[in-house]
Amino acid sequence: MKTPHRHGSEVRHEQLYAPRREDPYVEAGKPARDARCPHCGVVFHDGRWAWGPAPRDAIATACPACLRIHDAFPGGYVTLRGPFVQAHREELKQLVRAREDHEKAEHPLERVMGIGDKPEALEITTTGTHLARAIGNAVRAAYDGTLKVRYEADENLVRATWTR
Ligand SMILES: [Zn+2]
Repeated sequence: MKTPHRHGSEVRHEQLYAPRREDPYVEAGKPARDARCPHCGVVFHDGRWAWGPAPRDAIATACPACLRIHDAFPGGYVTLRGPFVQAHREELKQLVRAREDHEKAEHPLERVMGIGDKPEALEITTTGTHLARAIGNAVRAAYDGTLKVRYEADENLVRATWTR
């Protein structure tokens, strides 16, 4: 690997290609052997969590997504706000849940933790950064509006805000 130079564009280049920080929950939640989460049923096998039948000797271990839900420690926040949100609350909630089902099939650790119903906004929390982005993109694709997505590298966290 190239030695970073601490000036001008080189620094930006290094930051741009810096390795993504590992999710502490995924790292801490890697069992030493085949496992099954007793809360949601996801299975750890061959070094990754996936949906499917549990190997016969699987041990019971909470998966990283269920640990985050238990700790109330989101990996992503999506805020939907504006007059349109007030008028289309239920529709938007359905879209969020549909997106979760879709993403969760492929990425089992990406879940919606909660949908907070505020007078002015819907505040969605997710277990992973990927789902927060996916929900923001899906809402914008369906209803236009303005989407801002911020990745907070220090916290390994995504904050998406959609306004219409
Ligand atoms: Zn689980």
